[in-house]
Amino acid sequence: MKFYPTQIESYLNCPRKYFYSRDPDLRRQYSKASPHLVLGNAVHDALEKFFDLSKVPASDRTLETLNNLLRDAWAGRGIFKRNGWKQKKVREEAFEGNRENEKAWGQKGLNMLYRFFQTQDTTTVPLTTEQFHELRLTDDVTLGGKIDRIDRTPEGELIVIDYKTGKPPWEKDPAKVAEKDLQLTAYALVVSTKFRGTVARCSFLYLNDELEIGFKPDDALIARKKDEILTVCGRMLADWKTEDFDATPNPLCGWCDFSEICEPGKEYLRAKEAGATGENLELPF
Ligand code: SF4
Repeated sequence: MKFYPTQIESYLNCPRKYFYSRDPDLRRQYSKASPHLVLGNAVHDALEKFFDLSKVPASDRTLETLNNLLRDAWAGRGIFKRNGWKQKKVREEAFEGNRENEKAWGQKGLNMLYRFFQTQDTTTVPLTTEQFHELRLTDDVTLGGKIDRIDRTPEGELIVIDYKTGKPPWEKDPAKVAEKDLQLTAYALVVSTKFRGTVARCSFLYLNDELEIGFKPDDALIARKKDEILTVCGRMLADWKTEDFDATPNPLCGWCDFSEICEPGKEYLRAKEAGATGENLELPF
């Protein structure tokens, strides 16, 4: 079975949420497009095509090109035409016809790309962008994921980059992020094996904040994370056998697409509203 780091993280947060999100019918019925989803997808799509020499020649790598790619991706037109119908539906759902709100989110995307263009090397020719890569870890577990960008340095080492359009985490210390993170180290494991090279650095690039949080994933870290991943995947496989996934209500229930059909989640949210979850929402000053 295939496992993506984002799915593993979702399972660790709440197994039931992971289970619901794997069901295409439930996803269709309950997952709603949000402004942040529209923004994130358009920024990723624009950056993918910007670095694709078959779509944008190196001489055309200007800020204007990048901005126009964002607009085209957002609208589902130009080289993103095949997404036209889908984008129309997603925009309607996310912005509900509120043009001012959509404008503010679009401007946010343009600002991110402006900062990216000012601070990043835009002449680079990545090894891959927005591509799926996978690695068979055991007979039962294949680890994979869509990796935003992989670069190769002149010395032949590999760099893994994950773009983020949301807020950076409270914890920014790279060593602590490396210990806590599963996604980048999982990618490093896949990439180093697939491309037979050393991953010199893997990074989250927070586009809104011009912030890069990155680290070198050494062999010991990769080995530790591989064990961790295999342990969690073992639990996931066992849950799939019985299709019995625990619900673990938590503060993110309020943002869970499936709270409507999840009794423990609903109960938690009711208790939270009544102030019975122990979360002290009062200001301490
Ligand atoms: S509402 Fe909460 S408990 Fe229920 S699936 Fe979502 S995150 Fe899990």
